[in-house]
Amino acid sequence: MIPPTETTRPSKMRYADSDFDRAVEWREDISWLDKQLASQASRVYPIWRHRFLFSDDVTPLTLSPQDAGELAGLERVVLLGIIEGTARFALDISHLSEDLLPATSYDLRDVAMHLSDRVAAMLAFGRGMSVWHQDHLHCGRCGAPTAAERAGHLRRCTNHVCERTHFPRTDPAVITLVIDGERCLLAKRATITIPRFSTVAGFVEPGETLEDAVRREVAEEVGVATGTVLYRASQPWPFPSSLMMGFWARATDPRIMVDGEEISEAAWFTRADIVQGLEAETLILPPEDSISRRLVEDWRNLPEGAIIEGLE
Ligand SMILES: [Zn+2]
Repeated sequence: MIPPTETTRPSKMRYADSDFDRAVEWREDISWLDKQLASQASRVYPIWRHRFLFSDDVTPLTLSPQDAGELAGLERVVLLGIIEGTARFALDISHLSEDLLPATSYDLRDVAMHLSDRVAAMLAFGRGMSVWHQDHLHCGRCGAPTAAERAGHLRRCTNHVCERTHFPRTDPAVITLVIDGERCLLAKRATITIPRFSTVAGFVEPGETLEDAVRREVAEEVGVATGTVLYRASQPWPFPSSLMMGFWARATDPRIMVDGEEISEAAWFTRADIVQGLEAETLILPPEDSISRRLVEDWRNLPEGAIIEGLE
């Protein structure tokens, strides 16, 4: 058996660097929060309809709390954390019209590759929080408005009979590269026209294990039976609110039958097939920032004939 080597370890995931202090202990400290929001040194990332503002495409715009407050008020501020001693906040400014924005807005995915790991991770956190707030303005139990507490990390129902607390949500999803000997399975979504082939992904259902979700999704989408499932890595994916949990899975029956609805085409690819497909432009792999790409690339970087520990 070839022992696990550097190449068999999962490579680093975009949005997954958590090398910043999430300042959990300060979220309920009103006097600390007030002090940070009174400080010119604190930085606020405005978020407009889930997009960030950039003065150029590598530097996200930040404002002082005072400038942010003058632009949009500070009621919707969310504490993201502390970087190098400076408190960082997100502020939803979606109610402003586009002509009032102080810079150009970008989707995080279009600029993430230019950002440092830490800033990409912090903005992903901010994007996920902004989606959650917008989707939870009302109580899911009684329908009354909710109000933010704990520096934006909790919403409480304002109906005094209910007072239900709502916490930021993440939807677990599995994403899988199916492996059969020296081949891997890639599938093309029915909704896209370019030859982009990807791994198989889907949401975990209530009452289901991750491993069962992997086997079910693979069977549903491409008809392939899988046995052993090996966890690789996870990636926050706040587009809008997922946590992608990445796996390699061993095929036990390699016959493919696509569902025709979500997936229009699927095939087995050797490493050489992938190289040739990329060169001939008949194959486009998933975007660089995605765990899907990492699952494929990490497998492709294994030496021919490598035995993957845990996936025999
Ligand atoms: Zn309620």
